Amino acid sequence: MSGVSLQPQELAAIAREFGTPVYVYHAEKIAEQYNKLKHAFSGSNVHFFYACKALTNPHILSYVRELGSNVDCSSINEVKLALHAGFEPERVLYTSNGIAFEEIAEAKELGVNINIDSLSNLEKFGAAYGHSYPVGIRLRPNIMAGGNLKISTGHDKSKFGVPVEQLEDILALVKKYDLFISNLHIHTGSDIKDADVFVKGIEVLFDIIPHFPELRSVDLGGGFKVPYKEGDAVIDIALVGAKVKEAFDSHPQAKGLQIWFEPGKFMVSECGYLVAEVNVLKQTPSTHFVSVNSGFNHLIRPMFYDAYHRIENITNTDAPKHTYSIVGNICETDTFAWDRELNEVREGDLLCFYNAGAYGFEMSSNFNSRYKPAEVLVKDGKPMLIRKRDVFEDLLRNIV
Ligand SMILES: *Cc1c(COP(=O)(O)O)cnc(C)c1O
Repeated sequence: MSGVSLQPQELAAIAREFGTPVYVYHAEKIAEQYNKLKHAFSGSNVHFFYACKALTNPHILSYVRELGSNVDCSSINEVKLALHAGFEPERVLYTSNGIAFEEIAEAKELGVNINIDSLSNLEKFGAAYGHSYPVGIRLRPNIMAGGNLKISTGHDKSKFGVPVEQLEDILALVKKYDLFISNLHIHTGSDIKDADVFVKGIEVLFDIIPHFPELRSVDLGGGFKVPYKEGDAVIDIALVGAKVKEAFDSHPQAKGLQIWFEPGKFMVSECGYLVAEVNVLKQTPSTHFVSVNSGFNHLIRPMFYDAYHRIENITNTDAPKHTYSIVGNICETDTFAWDRELNEVREGDLLCFYNAGAYGFEMSSNFNSRYKPAEVLVKDGKPMLIRKRDVFEDLLRNIV
């Protein structure tokens, strides 16, 4: 809610120029967030890997690269997009989960950093490459953290990572294949607002580090919480920076190790806006519905995670406020918000959904055979189309 932002008039003008619904991203906001991170961790040997599954448009990737960040990928195609956007292989990290070994082999051929998250793939990696290629291990630290269970990944029932209690099995594989373990990784979840979660994670790692003499880095994942509404609790990133520094300074076994983070939401959530147009107003005995020309096919977070997105009427900003429920136009319940106060809404008004940069466009679909929105990047005050809206041919492209 603080820092640089795009104003309602600018967003409305962009929507009129490029049509609706449209995702708009603000480059300078990404830079601001990245600088906050750099500043907060300036006392430590920290390297950032933008978790690009939040928003993978190659224009965003190359902008993030210019800022100086590295990139973390969740699939081999994200790896290829990152390389396409100009990242050098050594600045790319592939944190895999449950993938076929062929993808790991492909990542190795591309020369990128790899985190492996199962004993099975670690064994295959050892058999194929032995000591010849450094590799990271994703551990499951058995820490409950994050906004809710759906976005919590490090607890003792989670599918992610090799459980720390299987350390002996890991060490047996390392010995058998003379594996070159260069990185230890944990990622406990998303929407983490408690700095101590990262300290707990580090404590788990400190016990394990001495078993891996060739280690170059420890990787604490992402998940920094950003504000979605006024007054929201957020992560105190400066406090995380201070606590991480303190923890590493007081543990001699960690001396010389790089500390890696994989921020996704923190980098791009607030830079993004989804602008949609009001199709229909419907007053029922109980509810005043506003239907926009979008739905969970474009922004699934409210329906999927009960996520809160701030919504504003950006074309009637001085009108008195009324209470509305904001819904989409697809044939499935797709409520964006119940009982929100908005400046009086008229058909044809534009509504803006805030915090739409992370997991917005990226999780969109063609459900109901509707088009995915266009994407626009605003940089130095100038809007630039970075993805065209779908057209009808796109719906038939792969039909045989
Ligand atoms: C999704 C993901 C992240 C980023 O999480 P955010 O909550 O967006 O910061 C980081 N690391 C890994 C391995 C992930 O899967």
